[in-house]
Formats: sequence, structure tokens, C-alpha cells
Amino acid sequence: MKPNPESPLATSVHPSPNHGERRSFPVDLLILHYTGMESAAAALQRLANPVAEVSAHYVVLEDGRVVQMVPEGRRAWHAGQGSWAGVSDINSRSLGIEIVNGGHAGGLPAYPEAQVAAVIDLCRDLTERWSIPAHRVLAHSDIAPERKEDPGEHFPWDRLARAGIGHWVAPTPIRDGRFFSEGDAGQPIEALQAMIALYGYDLPVTGTFDMRTKAAVTAFQRHFRPVRVDGVADASTITTLRDLLAALPGRG
Ligand SMILES: [Zn+2]
Repeated sequence: MKPNPESPLATSVHPSPNHGERRSFPVDLLILHYTGMESAAAALQRLANPVAEVSAHYVVLEDGRVVQMVPEGRRAWHAGQGSWAGVSDINSRSLGIEIVNGGHAGGLPAYPEAQVAAVIDLCRDLTERWSIPAHRVLAHSDIAPERKEDPGEHFPWDRLARAGIGHWVAPTPIRDGRFFSEGDAGQPIEALQAMIALYGYDLPVTGTFDMRTKAAVTAFQRHFRPVRVDGVADASTITTLRDLLAALPGRG
């Protein structure tokens, strides 16, 4: 690829061979990841290793430096199996940012301030140049709830929202009340599943709170109600979901 990065926020190029032609359009999703590795150097090496068959368009280091690995017009291999709002070839339809962080395996280290600021600036640049709507800036865990948990519940989506990035409402505080959890069944579960699916999660409406429903609720909490991530659809979770749905463009 060209020696100069496409985003003005990136300072260097570390090319990866792991990309292909986009197969569907438009490019209207932005997926955020953590690397989940012990160091930035190890992550860059893996993301450029043809044997690993993974990559991302950009990597944001802990000190805020941004490295481009794949040309924006190409299909990077960051999302894997997943789905959002009926789109299943997420790689074709998205840009991917890997954020250097030890992840769950590394004890969920905090994201340093300089790194968060850089992620915000890069997201702003990419969403503006590619016209990606705020509600389509997502976590890897949102598009693959049963497989992925990145960028994790310590990722500051609220900070991004205050900077105008992503879709967000203030989560409803946790209080006592009715809740639904694995094993429950009936009309309220159908309604819950329908709301989760309407927001974009890939979840069939079965009327049974199964493992897949628990995974979707967990992913939702990781992104939108991170103070308690337990896969239980409590009143705070459901109200926050309702408020997000009402705040989608064209609703409310
Ligand atoms: Zn990921």
C-alpha cells in the first residue's frame, strides 16, 4: 500500500497482507476491538502475519499513536463471523480499529487517556469521511455476542458519546424490580428479544431466554450499561434499551 496513511490521524503504515476486495456496499459500519495481547508489538506482528489471517484498518497504540495496516477501500479481516441489522458480511461493510489493550485475559486494563483521545479523533475522521451513522459505531461483541467480548466493559463509550461518537443514552440506574434471566419463557421474553433484534443484534424471537439471548443481553450491557454485565435483563437494562431504540434516527 501507499507509504502515507490515509487518515491524517495516523502517523505510520505497517502494512498487512491480510485483506481482499469488498463484496458488498456501502461501507457504513465502524467496529472497535481490543487486541487482547501482551504488547503492541505482538499485536502488530500478528495482524500482519499471513498465517494468522487477521487484520484491521488501523491500530491505536496505548500512547495514542495511530498505525494504518490496510487501505480503507479494502476488506480487512477483523470481524469474522457476525451479524448486525441483517448484514452478515461485516468485513465488507465496515472499517475496523484495533485498540491495543490486554483485554479480559490481561485483567481488563484501563484505556489510557491519550489512547481514548486518539480513538475519538480517528472515529470522527472515519465516520465523517465515510458517512457512517453514529448508531453503526459498534463493539466487536455487538456483532458476535457469543464469540467475542471486545473492546470490553471498561471501554469508555460514554466518553466517546460526549465527543459526538457513537449512539448512547445515559443508562437507567440499577434498582430492584422485575427481571428476566436464562430459562424464562413467554410473551415478555418475546418482547425483549424483539427489542434487542430491532436495535440490530442478531437474535431470533423464540420466546425462550436461552444462551443466545443471554449472550446478546451481555453484549448489550457491555456496551450500554457497563456497571453490571451479567446477562440478566433487569429493569435498568430493558429501560436503557427502550430509550436507545427511541433515540434511533427516524424514531421517537
Ligand atoms: Zn475483535
